[in-house]
Amino acid sequence: MAKIAFIGLGNMGGPMAANLAKAQHHVTAFDLSDSAVAAAVEKGAHKAATAAEAVKGAEVVVTMLPAGKHVREVYEKDVLPNIGKGVLLIDCSTIDVDSARHVAALAAKAGLEMIDAPVSGGVGGATAGTLTFMVGGGDAAFAKAKPILEKMGKNIVHAGASGNGQAAKICNNMILGVSMVAVSEAFMLAKRLGLDAQKMFDVVSTSSGSCWSLVNYCPVPGPVPASPANRDYQPGFTAAMMLKDLMLAQQAASAAGASTPLGAEAAQLFSLFVNSGNAAKDFSGIVRMLDGK
Ligand code: NAD
Repeated sequence: MAKIAFIGLGNMGGPMAANLAKAQHHVTAFDLSDSAVAAAVEKGAHKAATAAEAVKGAEVVVTMLPAGKHVREVYEKDVLPNIGKGVLLIDCSTIDVDSARHVAALAAKAGLEMIDAPVSGGVGGATAGTLTFMVGGGDAAFAKAKPILEKMGKNIVHAGASGNGQAAKICNNMILGVSMVAVSEAFMLAKRLGLDAQKMFDVVSTSSGSCWSLVNYCPVPGPVPASPANRDYQPGFTAAMMLKDLMLAQQAASAAGASTPLGAEAAQLFSLFVNSGNAAKDFSGIVRMLDGK
């Protein structure tokens, strides 16, 4: 089994590291939050006091960090200066394509293989080990990483060269942001028309309006017991993270000359939601803003 350094043990990284430890890998874990490290140790990981200490002697490094600036900083300052040849680098964070390609180029310059491997499936998928991984990088790195990723996920897709995993991810999350707004609007319209939320769910979940935002992550309490709506919109996936991803999609669309008017509208709505004090709420809480609350 491999010696794996895992950096970033938040809502997603925590359960992902736990699944690697459960699969008998030797996981050394680091996060800026002591309580996140303690939780990982409880699930079988070994504690590191710094990121540099975590990567010493590792064969594989996995990172699950908030955004591109964190990934650049951790690889530039902590990871790359402290590892030897032959270490495989896997960044699972959702970040901008440029940062992903920048860090992969630094790794290549140091003679190291790196993949961007962002995920879909949320905290539920991270915990159950059923995430979808979308991977950008070379064939050899992908082949090496696959058995590790299979301990954390069910669908592992090689999306192409470095950065293409991130490209797939921002396209997916643009759909997610738009569909969550659409589902939320429909529930609020139903409410005002006197249609019960459960009845609406029963109809739409088996009709042509069905989608992941409705069936797995229903934004109103009741129909889907595991959804954050049933626990006062505790994340889950924060509204701040959704806004980050929608902004990444808008930047990419602008750079590539793609027309994404609904993506732009969703970015505006999540910006309003986040800036009215809801950054740390689950993104499905946008239903409350659309309800006028
Ligand atoms: P989170 O905020 O819960 O976790 C991030 C962790 O990184 C935190 O524990 C933080 O302390 C740690 N961290 C930040 N800077 C660090 C550093 N320099 N060194 C060590 N640790 C550091 O976020 P999350 O929800 O776990 O999301 C992580 C990534 O996964 C994001 O890029 C997000 O977009 C993506 N993602 C999240 C979900 C989800 O449902 N939460 C789903 C898919 C993808």
